[in-house]
Amino acid sequence: MKAILVREFGGPEVLKLEQVPIPKPARGEVLVRIHAAGVNPYDTYMRAGTYARKPPLPYTPGSDGAGVIEGIGEGVEKVKPGDRVYTAQTLSGAYAEYALAREEQVHALPAKINFQQGAGLWVPYGTAYHALHHAAGAHASETVLVHGASGGVGIAAVQIARAMGLTVLGTAGTTKGLEIAKREGAHQVFDHRKTGYQAEILQATGNRGVDIILEMLANVNLAYDTKLLGNRGRVIVIGNRGEVTIDPRELMGRRASIRAFTLWGITPTEEADIHAGLIAGLENGTLRPIVGKEVPLADAARAHKEILEPGASGKIVLVC
Ligand code: NAP
Repeated sequence: MKAILVREFGGPEVLKLEQVPIPKPARGEVLVRIHAAGVNPYDTYMRAGTYARKPPLPYTPGSDGAGVIEGIGEGVEKVKPGDRVYTAQTLSGAYAEYALAREEQVHALPAKINFQQGAGLWVPYGTAYHALHHAAGAHASETVLVHGASGGVGIAAVQIARAMGLTVLGTAGTTKGLEIAKREGAHQVFDHRKTGYQAEILQATGNRGVDIILEMLANVNLAYDTKLLGNRGRVIVIGNRGEVTIDPRELMGRRASIRAFTLWGITPTEEADIHAGLIAGLENGTLRPIVGKEVPLADAARAHKEILEPGASGKIVLVC
């Protein structure tokens, strides 16, 4: 089979397409014919060797794939060959024509969701679901600011929050991104490249402040976020690429808080909750993964460059 292999940490050019043997599922494992694999920003940090998790070399990147069960190991009961699934982590990496996964890492892909959309599920939708339901404890009567609503996690967050009944404010940095955030459910959108846009957000809440901020770039925004919160507001840090100084007094007066997580740290109960919620949302049509760009597996290096460039408009997926 064809698979992307990383033999040394480095720039996008270390992603090489190679011919490798198709793995065989052992007890409790499944083999998935991957049709599409999602590209997430963390894949690039891991490839560069700068991420908290450093896989042993060589490795095939990718936790998010979608495809069809090709084979199952002994004892597997949840799925059978021919089933359509999406992966939430794999054992051998999703940037490949076939991937091994443990039985519990694959989940039924609803019939109306195609493989490219399925490849954009686990990290983006799992993160957005966890942020709103578990980290923020969001209520329908609240207002959420999705700070970075044009990318994978942001679009998922807009759709989930809207389905939960919240008032949704979203930001993006391009006209296209603003249009997508609005189309996918944001009540109002703001351009995060425009000077003074934060004042517009505050005005949109009648100067009361927002209840929840889902933050995609904390090193740039966190200090100002604390000023945009209402009473008992909370910032949920999802994305961060550096250090930042904040004034804790902004939090004290509001009894506000900053919370943060990585998807790696969630509990099995939270994960079960996430998959149940996502599959229900996909089935009832409130969740609709948006694929912004399809890239051939061989061009994974290009996808890694483009995922870090400004101007997001949905997911970048590799077609395998
Ligand atoms: P993505 O698809 O590349 O989208 C990036 C988003 O950030 C876009 O909406 C982009 O908007 C926005 N952005 C750019 N500049 C911004 C600014 N100054 N203020 C606010 N937003 C800004 O990435 P993603 O998959 O959505 O992930 C977003 C971030 O969360 C990444 O840093 C990722 O590593 C992190 N993440 C963390 C977890 C976790 O477990 N904690 C899980 C998933 C993702 P424009 O392009 O329109 O400017």
